[in-house]
Amino acid sequence: MATSIVLFGPPGAGKGTQAGKIVATTGKPQISTGDMLRAALTAGTPLGLAAKQFMDAGALVPDDVIIGLIEERLTLPDAVNGVLFDGFPRTIAQAEALSSIAEVEVVIAIEVPDERIVERICGRFTCGQCGAVFHDSFNPTSVDGVCDSCGSSEMKRRADDNEETVRTRLEAYHTQTAPLSDWYGERGLFVAVDGDQGIDHVGDAILIALDSL
Ligand code: ADP
Ligand code: ADP
Ligand code: ZN
Repeated sequence: MATSIVLFGPPGAGKGTQAGKIVATTGKPQISTGDMLRAALTAGTPLGLAAKQFMDAGALVPDDVIIGLIEERLTLPDAVNGVLFDGFPRTIAQAEALSSIAEVEVVIAIEVPDERIVERICGRFTCGQCGAVFHDSFNPTSVDGVCDSCGSSEMKRRADDNEETVRTRLEAYHTQTAPLSDWYGERGLFVAVDGDQGIDHVGDAILIALDSL
């Protein structure tokens, strides 16, 4: 059956970092609403421009925009066997919309305390070619400024990865997104993983959780 997986957690929890392993294990493609919004912004589409003010402010983009984006993405052929949602759903309204368009098999929550989030996000950079995620201290490149995955030296930092915006994003997470843990818990779909350990250990814990389904 075509079931999907949700990767859940606060900004900077490590969702993007862990997504690759899950994609490699399950064969389900990663759908990151944050990446889709940034691509729309770079392409200068009306949707991207409309989303920009919310993203810059650290606020959630309105539900109807996000749900429209997901509905369209799920019509592509690679979604036919289910997908890995990264950073979606982020509100109860999004989860309700999702329940009528796809079947969620499990929600894997990467739990990280707030006090770790700022240091994670403020040190984050990514490869502009392949999207690999790095950190100044916790996951540096082997050679300064060169991507370990693809060799590119086109490294990027996000405009919203600054301390002030991170605090607003964390607040949005606690008020609008965190209630989803109970929502999915009531449906028997919520599995929490300790995200406050090394990257490889978090990855192992996620694979164990997926194995036990
Ligand atoms: P998310 O997609 O949940 O916003 P990322 O995967 O982009 O989070 O990770 C945020 C930052 O934290 C990145 O710089 C990443 O290298 C780093 N990071 C991810 N997982 C860990 C971990 N387990 N320990 C320390 N740093 C981590
Ligand atoms: P992070 O995991 O670091 O919070 P994302 O790349 O997932 O970053 O999201 C970046 C921004 O894009 C969010 O702060 C928000 O403005 C917007 N966004 C992404 N996904 C959603 C969503 N499902 N609902 C509403 N806004 C979203
Ligand atoms: Zn790369």
